Amino acid sequence: MLKLYNTLTRKTEEFKALNPPLVNMYTCGPTVYRDVHIGNFRTYLMADFLRRTLEYNRFRVTHIKNITDVGHMRRLGHDHNHGQLDPIIEEAIKKGKTPKEIASYYTEIFLKDEEKLNIEKANKYPKASEHVKEMIEIIKILLKKKLAYETEGTIYFDVKKFKNYGQLSGNTLDKMDNLLQAVRVSLETDKKESIDFALWKKAEEGRLMRWDSPWGEGFPGWHIECTAMSIKYLGDTFDIHTGGEDLIFPHHEDEIAQSEGATGRKFVNYWLHGGYLLVNNEKMSRSKGNVYTISDLEKKGFDPLTFRYLTLMTHYKAKMNFTWEALEGAQIAYKRLIEEVSKWDRPKIGCAEFEQRFLEAINDDLNMSKALSIVWEMVKSDYPTSAKAESILKMDEVLGLDLQDAKKKKKSIKVVVPDSVKKLIAERESLRKMGSFTKADHLRNKIKKLGYIIKDTKKGIEVEKI
Ligand SMILES: [Zn+2]
Repeated sequence: MLKLYNTLTRKTEEFKALNPPLVNMYTCGPTVYRDVHIGNFRTYLMADFLRRTLEYNRFRVTHIKNITDVGHMRRLGHDHNHGQLDPIIEEAIKKGKTPKEIASYYTEIFLKDEEKLNIEKANKYPKASEHVKEMIEIIKILLKKKLAYETEGTIYFDVKKFKNYGQLSGNTLDKMDNLLQAVRVSLETDKKESIDFALWKKAEEGRLMRWDSPWGEGFPGWHIECTAMSIKYLGDTFDIHTGGEDLIFPHHEDEIAQSEGATGRKFVNYWLHGGYLLVNNEKMSRSKGNVYTISDLEKKGFDPLTFRYLTLMTHYKAKMNFTWEALEGAQIAYKRLIEEVSKWDRPKIGCAEFEQRFLEAINDDLNMSKALSIVWEMVKSDYPTSAKAESILKMDEVLGLDLQDAKKKKKSIKVVVPDSVKKLIAERESLRKMGSFTKADHLRNKIKKLGYIIKDTKKGIEVEKI
């Protein structure tokens, strides 16, 4: 029995698919005007562990992940972002490219990074810019049902008209004060209530990304894109919706209001949200320079799958604190696992006891850290290596750590040496070149105390972690 924590009911529940063995699942995808960072990828990894766990339980998953390639903010003037340029358009102007070129450049990188992390490909990555027609259709229905209103070419959702508002986030209409506090202070003066949100915005003068609509030229709001694309590919009601916890309000709350308002049916049965990723216990921010990408990790010598391994160690709902030391630790553990598995005999029979416990762990709201500890228990157990090999290949369908290629992988995964140790190694090298062997040996001991052994080989220096 698979149990999942459902944000909507605030309970851990048994998962029941609408049409088993089929499962329809939607994940809010990236905004593609800049690199997708490791915090975003933690959320996509959570969705991947979920999808693989469903597949391990013999469900057949249809997974949709959208690409947000429409700028949702106004280029100039009065919007949430107080007159800043829309990020997609800003980036395009800065680089002398069209918004489309910027979006496709970052989409490419995103898809490559997903591949590096062994994230299973979604069945479809629909682009918002190619679904404006569907968004307009839903807005038309909402207007007809009087759940939305128009003011001079801009359409707002009338939040007060939707009785079930707040079911996901708890920001309900009867707690109006809380609700008003939860929405960003808005400078849009043409709406009835400040909690109302835009479904369609009138295009301002000189705007690059604009579409024709019954209300004149404009562009869609952000929330409506997920409603339009999820309903188009998964139906009015579908099984699972995932995203980062920062999307619960207002994004997902507003998705529910628009979708249920338009269709009159329940939108999603299970909502799953991934916790934040902090860097050195701080929020990631571009001004602090701690927004890391997968290529930043690679530049420092880390295998991208080390980050996958690291995310397995913290429950998806908990805050995860990323540090380079933690990643070094994960790389060492991952390397050891690969080395062990590469020595094993050909797979045969399997270890039923460990497989059972592994299944129970992943089915307990994706308790991946427990699953990983069961893997290590099995690795260290006295079972024949052929049996362990059989089981680990099964488990790796969920873990996604390339363990079937352990022999090949062994060669590519290195020990990552911290910068402080690298400096000592370089110092020792120059001492040796100058003939100061006593001083060089002294440094070798110092490095050893830090946990690294230096070997002088014909090819150069090799470093191993003790
Ligand atoms: Zn979304």
